[in-house]
Amino acid sequence: MTPEEEAIARAELAMNLRRQNVAGHKVLAALESVPRSLFLSAEHKALAYADRAAPIECGQTVSQPAVVAQMTEALELGPNDRVLEIGTGSGYQTAILARLAGHVYSVERYRLLSDLARERLSVLKLDNVDFLVGDGHEGWAEHAPYDRIIVTAAAAAVPEALVEQLVPEGILVAPVGAEGMVQELLKCRKAGEGLVGEHIADVRFVPLVPGIAGRL
Ligand code: SAH
Repeated sequence: MTPEEEAIARAELAMNLRRQNVAGHKVLAALESVPRSLFLSAEHKALAYADRAAPIECGQTVSQPAVVAQMTEALELGPNDRVLEIGTGSGYQTAILARLAGHVYSVERYRLLSDLARERLSVLKLDNVDFLVGDGHEGWAEHAPYDRIIVTAAAAAVPEALVEQLVPEGILVAPVGAEGMVQELLKCRKAGEGLVGEHIADVRFVPLVPGIAGRL
């Protein structure tokens, strides 16, 4: 794609998301400020501004922009919020969180993905993000509690450690459901020791896999 073609594709995606009404002005402006092509490998850059999921390294996927917008909106981010993200992946969602929140802590089980995301965010001069290679089932206890938690891989249930690491009244957004099936995207609020959830959408995410990846 030439730079002109890329600018047109970006603007078309922005208009398309605005028409779908998936998120408010602030979230959409954050999406528009982040060049999605930076997060895709050369062979998949042509998919950068289509409103669909796309393959990334390590056999994973970057979410569809409309879903990224919906999940970000559901978090109701404030400028001072401390956010835990499980599933760094390409770092695209991380970059959008970093634009809207105070600080982002992002956990990924593949070192390669974590390292690539770190480089991409430094290109965008986003320095309010810390990365960890680890198992998201355990959250990131060192920096807990978090005002907001977002999980971008699907589990049968929200891992207990994440509930523990969320502040009272904090919001957690996660796809919940069996692998390979349609999952429920839930927006949950912490009430007492547990979560009260509401259904946002039907989605399909890669699974939350236990442990750190052995290779890569
Ligand atoms: N938000 C990402 C989506 C990546 S797909 C993006 O915008 O690109 C989900 C990611 O979750 C994958 O990179 C996968 O490796 C990661 N993942 C799966 N199980 C995990 C676990 N237990 N801990 C941390 N990351 C995990």
